[in-house]
Amino acid sequence: MSDRERPAPRLDTLAVHAGAADDAHGSVVAPIYQAATFDFPAGDRPLVYTRYGNNPTQVALQSRIAALEGAEEALVLASGMATLSTTILSVCEAGDHVVAAPSLYGGTHKLLEEDLPRVGVETDYARSLDPAAWEEARRPNTRLFLWEAITNPLLRVADPAALVGVAHEHGITTLVDATFATPVNQRPLEHGVDLVMHSATKYLGGHSDVIGGAVAGDRARIEGVKRRLQTLGGSVDPHAAFLIGRGIKTLALRVARQNENGAAVAEFLTRHPRVEWATHPTRPDHPDRDVIDRVLAGGGGVVTFLPACDRADAERIVDRLRWIRSAPSLGGVESLAGLPALTSHRSWTSARREEAGFPDPTIRLALGIEAADDLIDDLSRALDG
Ligand SMILES: *Cc1c(COP(=O)(O)O)cnc(C)c1O
Repeated sequence: MSDRERPAPRLDTLAVHAGAADDAHGSVVAPIYQAATFDFPAGDRPLVYTRYGNNPTQVALQSRIAALEGAEEALVLASGMATLSTTILSVCEAGDHVVAAPSLYGGTHKLLEEDLPRVGVETDYARSLDPAAWEEARRPNTRLFLWEAITNPLLRVADPAALVGVAHEHGITTLVDATFATPVNQRPLEHGVDLVMHSATKYLGGHSDVIGGAVAGDRARIEGVKRRLQTLGGSVDPHAAFLIGRGIKTLALRVARQNENGAAVAEFLTRHPRVEWATHPTRPDHPDRDVIDRVLAGGGGVVTFLPACDRADAERIVDRLRWIRSAPSLGGVESLAGLPALTSHRSWTSARREEAGFPDPTIRLALGIEAADDLIDDLSRALDG
């Protein structure tokens, strides 16, 4: 049956079937084209070369991700950071200005503060996720607004349509890093956002065994990223593309469980006497409650909490965990824990972290798909130990 004859499918179905390249042998699973180069094409068809991002295994994954995001096109790259740097350089040139959210992934901060200024692209941070703060940070040469769908580590949530409103009034492109949300919990393009990107290393791959990234949007914008990819060269290896595509088949199932685990663990921590506060997008007292109800379908697997102790004791709590492993990253089937002060926000000063709302003992949990009761027992033992 051709795609055209199928009834309009839901995300869970697209995750399994979209971009399943036809195979001459009838294989149910799309083969891996572990090839760098291909015959010169006949006629005016474009040259296929794996660095260009048009190897059939890359293309199959790109169609799957475009389908999940409701995008015209998607492009898959070698990592989340390759995606971010290549995408920003496709939008901005020397003399341009970026307005970014006050809290971002650590690598993104470094890119904006240390690398982009070297090629003449400057960044200012909006004071908050409030549209007025973005209007205030905007300059005549602002070319890009950049924020994360769910921020790290405090899990704040912007109203995408409100920020798009400010941006589009001034011809500014919007880029959302939706790694923490996944297409299951938010599809930014449906809110008018121009480009959405992911670290596919996290929920899309889902098994902590592959590095990759993806960006989706309209054809012209993705062609622009593809042009920069050809020379910057951060293309994804076909085998990595295969692993990401395999991971995505179970994305909807995994994220549904991670949404449940996030809510259950946050509820447990909120009631625990040795915890000052715990946050998750499902909490009734979340500062972005109204926005979340409109723009997120689920809270995701990340829970952040402040134990009532100093940083050394917080490290001991993490050490005492038995199922939840102490490691950076998120989005895999296995639960991980870490202190932002030692991982994502290590390069910040203690004072900057405290001012941003996450003092040094703050612990970030990236929950997997284990039974919620086992995760809660593990945390309970570690906190009481
Ligand atoms: C991990 C992460 C990145 C970087 O992705 P890599 O695949 O490690 O390069 C970017 N943004 C967010 C929100 C992330 O969590």
